[in-house]
Amino acid sequence: MSLTKHNFKAWYHCINGCSGDYPLIDIIYRCPKCGDLLEVQHDLDALRSKSPQEWKTLFEQRFAQTDGPHTSGIWSKQEWVAPKIDLGNIISIGEGRTPLFHPEHLARHTGIENLGVKLCGNSHTGSFKDLGMTVLVSMVKQIIAQGQTIKAVACASTGDTSAALAAYCAAAGIPSLVLLPKNKVSSAQLIQPIANGILTLSLDTDFDGCMEVVQKLTESKGIYLANSMNSLRIEGQKTVGMELVQQLNWEVPDWVIVPGGNLGNISAIGKGFLEMKAVGLIERLPRLVCAQTERANPLFESYQTGFEEFHPKTAAATLATAIQIGKPVSFKKAIRVLKQMSGIVEQASEEELANASSLADRSGLFACPQTGAALAVFLKLVEKREIRSNHRVVVISTAHGLKFVDFKIGYHEKSLKGVESKFANLPVELPANVDTVKKEIDKRFPN
Ligand SMILES: *Cc1c(COP(=O)(O)O)cnc(C)c1O
Ligand SMILES: [Zn+2]
Repeated sequence: MSLTKHNFKAWYHCINGCSGDYPLIDIIYRCPKCGDLLEVQHDLDALRSKSPQEWKTLFEQRFAQTDGPHTSGIWSKQEWVAPKIDLGNIISIGEGRTPLFHPEHLARHTGIENLGVKLCGNSHTGSFKDLGMTVLVSMVKQIIAQGQTIKAVACASTGDTSAALAAYCAAAGIPSLVLLPKNKVSSAQLIQPIANGILTLSLDTDFDGCMEVVQKLTESKGIYLANSMNSLRIEGQKTVGMELVQQLNWEVPDWVIVPGGNLGNISAIGKGFLEMKAVGLIERLPRLVCAQTERANPLFESYQTGFEEFHPKTAAATLATAIQIGKPVSFKKAIRVLKQMSGIVEQASEEELANASSLADRSGLFACPQTGAALAVFLKLVEKREIRSNHRVVVISTAHGLKFVDFKIGYHEKSLKGVESKFANLPVELPANVDTVKKEIDKRFPN
């Protein structure tokens, strides 16, 4: 079967519907008419030229291959992501294809038999940010191959985005740079990008100040912008929804729960479901849930008004640092998909997210605090009887807990402020004496 990928087309279009389509190869991040975000639109009729069964078979065949970019979770769905990128320009580090894990203990504890956790953090740099970055950096490689000059790819992130950017740019041999607020970034957050050789510029300002500078820098076309207003990243991230349905044998779950900060990921996952439905791969939509923390909850507040109003705010410090965002770039996209998918926005306190994360760890997870927020919201919706025992639920885990060990250590040492650690599990200190050790073991494991 020839893949005839050249029949498939995608372009940028303004999210507010201003006229004008722009090729994905263009270096453009915002609508020239209204200044709002762009999104990638696909030629859905072209995608409909294959039957749903043909697509499913093609995706399975690619997963059965042993080599090449089409074995990646993202690029196995290339026609739906970025159809015109040449295979030779794809920078893949095996992203996607993450487990849909069934946490037995948590399922029994909640009575939700059909519970899955999509482990998006089981990925090269340890977070789902790899899914979007493979698309963005591959596009940069294609742009350079077509003769344009790009000196470097830049972002103003401190955490998971800069790690993904640095890794994919290093793999591509393309210079990258990150702008950071001086003295506000821990070395744990910095070590991955530093190791990959990113140019790190430490500025005497806060995160918003860095964001302003990076936007100015990228007005010149020599520096390509990797922050999430670049909607190419959404195309990679939307495959999470496609892949989890594929893992459920193309059965659609009743609920998908996603932690939201800048709201790119929830927009992406919603977009994937809507496109699958439009092309006929699925027949119904799940209900989408966005989980925020009480400390950074602008979308939750908007939901309280029926999404009539949206007020950006200043986010307070939270354990879930990756969703500590008060002025989310993608709020319009998120509201749009939530409205189309009978969405709910729910929030979690620090204590709720910390305990939910540790409860899930007892089932074999190692949940990051953002995933903790999603799990806490899952528990709340079960308690409110929104989620019923016959429902199928998927919780999106966004990062590996190993990226957030300070949170884990603090939890088990009971030193997290405002958190009563219900599942702390500290080492038991004993003298080196066999009888004492045996006694302790018998106490813990009585027959
Ligand atoms: C980026 C990130 C999020 C938030 O995703 P948004 O697209 O900003 O809503 C959640 N969890 C982790 C681990 C992240 O890195
Ligand atoms: Zn516009």
